[in-house]
Amino acid sequence: MATWELTGVRQRSSSIRKGRDFRSLFIYDHELASLDLGLQHPFKPERVLKTVELCSRYGVWEKPWMEVKGAERAEREVLERFHQPQYLDILERASRGEIQLETLERGLGTEDCPIVPGLYEWASRAVGGSLIAMRAILEGDADVAFNLFGGFHHGMPDHAEGFCYLNDIAISILEALDRGKRVAYVDMDAHHGNGVQEAFYRDPRVLVISVHETGRTLYPWGGSEEEIGEGEGLGYNVNIPLEPGSDDEVFQLAVGSIVLPLLRAFSPDVLVSQIGADTMISDPLTHLRLTNNSYSWAIRNLASMAVPVLALGGGGYDLYRTARCWTMAWAIFNHVEPRDELAGLVGGMMYGPEMEVGTLMDAANPTKGEVKERAMEGVTKVIEFLRSTVFPIHSL
Ligand SMILES: [Zn+2]
Repeated sequence: MATWELTGVRQRSSSIRKGRDFRSLFIYDHELASLDLGLQHPFKPERVLKTVELCSRYGVWEKPWMEVKGAERAEREVLERFHQPQYLDILERASRGEIQLETLERGLGTEDCPIVPGLYEWASRAVGGSLIAMRAILEGDADVAFNLFGGFHHGMPDHAEGFCYLNDIAISILEALDRGKRVAYVDMDAHHGNGVQEAFYRDPRVLVISVHETGRTLYPWGGSEEEIGEGEGLGYNVNIPLEPGSDDEVFQLAVGSIVLPLLRAFSPDVLVSQIGADTMISDPLTHLRLTNNSYSWAIRNLASMAVPVLALGGGGYDLYRTARCWTMAWAIFNHVEPRDELAGLVGGMMYGPEMEVGTLMDAANPTKGEVKERAMEGVTKVIEFLRSTVFPIHSL
């Protein structure tokens, strides 16, 4: 654990903003944490409250350079930059209980995207949280900003899908483009970031990279490596589909071979990352087998890019493991080593599996046998394909 005591890095990253020290911003809003989409629905915003509790327990909260802010509702005209006005009308009316013929056609009222009272308010405040975080970065008030209530990468201009009603990611990136910034987007969620891909498919100002479980076995059933952008955006959309059963080694090979070289070559002004944690071995919705060892390795690499970072939530349906991942991500981006302040206390609060108390790290859990062989073969082919098609566009 002590190997990532990174105080020196904090001093180095503060040189991004000359003349002042490193600052970070965490969006927390208790009302956003309380949304209830129904007992059976896997999406539980209370994960963010659990993350805050763990951050506090592990001593990575309330540091002098950290600021916590609530979320404010994004204005309608901001939402219209990505979403169709008719869709916004239908969503707003549905969340007031006014159901019309078109409601279901827009993906609303389905099992994945149920309608609950106050939904429009909730979704537009989640977007507002991401916007506050992005603006803090653009105005030089934060080097790192987190909105774990955001990360809705499946949100489409004219409909809801995959638990996503409004696409806070596309809207935040548009805000950065308005200010003339070049943006790299790294999507670590187990599902393909189809909504963000659609938003910037023809735009070379945004390098969109998604690492995910192959669409042959998981929603949204796309995200092939062959989707590399169009027109001026050719080579600026990168998909790295992984086979079911892919583990830490496979994920690290993919990120190390493709994501990191492309990020260095593109050299963005701002890095946006969707840090969904549904890639974890215990996630009930997906078939990847990562532990938080490779997750935190990837986060460390993003944190060392010396570029301001907007980190957004996303998937993660094993609530406890998701909270551990996000606590580690917040610790790494703030260059603080998490220490369990309750470990060893008799009668201390136990949080999660007792054997894991005292550390946030998972035990290693590599995949073996044929499943592993297929996963390695699959990722090797994808790497070769991207090296021959996308790398030359970036002079790699
Ligand atoms: Zn997901």
